[in-house]
Amino acid sequence: MTQHTPPAPRICPACDGFASAAVTLGTRDSCGRLRTITVDCPACLGTGTVSARLVREGARA
Ligand SMILES: [Zn+2]
Repeated sequence: MTQHTPPAPRICPACDGFASAAVTLGTRDSCGRLRTITVDCPACLGTGTVSARLVREGARA
């Protein structure tokens, strides 16, 4: 009897699954919070995986 299980998502080798990072700009806003920008992994475009899922998650974002 065969079980039909979906393949596990493959982790992006470039970012090891940590697809987005917040980078501080070194300054603070008027409320005293650190100003940050979010940078997505260029290899997986912020999804953290590489496979057919890349297309689906990219379309959702
Ligand atoms: Zn990546």
